[in-house]
Amino acid sequence: MDTSYRIATIPGDGIGTEVVPAAVDVLERAGSRFGIRFEWSELEWSCEYYARTGRMMPENGLDVLREHDQIFLGAVGYPGVPDHVSLWGLLIPIRRAFRQYVNLRPVTLLPGVESPLREVPAGGLDFVVVRENNEGEYSEVGGRLYRGTPQEAAIQESVFTRRGVERVMRYAFDLARSRKSRLASATKSNGIIHSMPFWDEIFRELGAEHPDVKTSDYHIDALAALFVLDPTRFDVVVASNLFGDILTDLGAAIIGSIGFAPSANLNPEREFPSMFEPVHGSAPDIAGTGRANPIGQVWAGAMMLEHLGHADAATAVMGAVSHVLAETGVRTRDLGGTASTQEMTAELLKALDQEV
Ligand code: ATP
Ligand code: MG
Repeated sequence: MDTSYRIATIPGDGIGTEVVPAAVDVLERAGSRFGIRFEWSELEWSCEYYARTGRMMPENGLDVLREHDQIFLGAVGYPGVPDHVSLWGLLIPIRRAFRQYVNLRPVTLLPGVESPLREVPAGGLDFVVVRENNEGEYSEVGGRLYRGTPQEAAIQESVFTRRGVERVMRYAFDLARSRKSRLASATKSNGIIHSMPFWDEIFRELGAEHPDVKTSDYHIDALAALFVLDPTRFDVVVASNLFGDILTDLGAAIIGSIGFAPSANLNPEREFPSMFEPVHGSAPDIAGTGRANPIGQVWAGAMMLEHLGHADAATAVMGAVSHVLAETGVRTRDLGGTASTQEMTAELLKALDQEV
């Protein structure tokens, strides 16, 4: 097995530049324990790069990334640069060019962490959202009409293809089979009368092919409420691009802090690099203060190890995270503590060294 990997890092903006080096240190330490070598290429693509060059990444950016095994991203976005620039100039082109059609977001409450939910039943929170990552509501189809007139309007089309919906649902069914064999689908076919009935129809067809998986449909509004009122009923949840985005910010909130939540943009066929990033953004309000929680980025790193086939190393990294949270008082401010990013990272490294 080739245990040397070329990883492109894109720290990006704000706290991305603080948490990526922290997570790289943790992955290096885990790598040295498990005989995995990383060759990191740091790319300076960011909103600052955009301010200098007028682009989020160079014209040959995708070719540069293609030379790497995986992509490790911090966060892009900064005040003064409209969000759609960072999204459409970098994230979406990467997700689409490399067919990263699965956005995998675990919602797991880590030991020693308090959820804002008043009651978390025994067994805690442990489910996964599979968000469609390449099509759906995030579409360029549409436009503005009759600007400056009383008839002014905006039209935004969603595009759901059979191929796009089927492939992400197949992934979700397989994932459910490897867990508790329960799969919930997020829909809104009472209000959105073309795309969502299509989504439901494909879900039913695939459900018939997977009789061992217990399926259920929820309207997105009810599903969001259940994330708060009864989250333990879920195992795997499959959702469209927009619904998945909203659900996973909610998922991040119920596991105690958006500073924890990781995500993997997966190309399940492994034809191209996948991309691993925290759910949080560049957090301009705390950037530069050394207060960012590095765990979301570290957890994203553990997902990268897992995808590379190093489940043992991924488990060790998450073991160190759990140890620090459950056994030490070291916490960043989002968790009510006073530790800096560096102090938290030092504690994670220590825990990794002490694990047997
Ligand atoms: P973007 O536009 O880049 O998504 P945003 O401001 O919309 O940025 P986040 O960057 O995710 O969203 O920040 C939301 C809130 O959560 C902010 O108050 C931020 O300080 C806090 N936050 C986000 N990530 C972390 C982290 N890793 N550690 C501590 N606090 C965080
Ligand atoms: Mg945001």
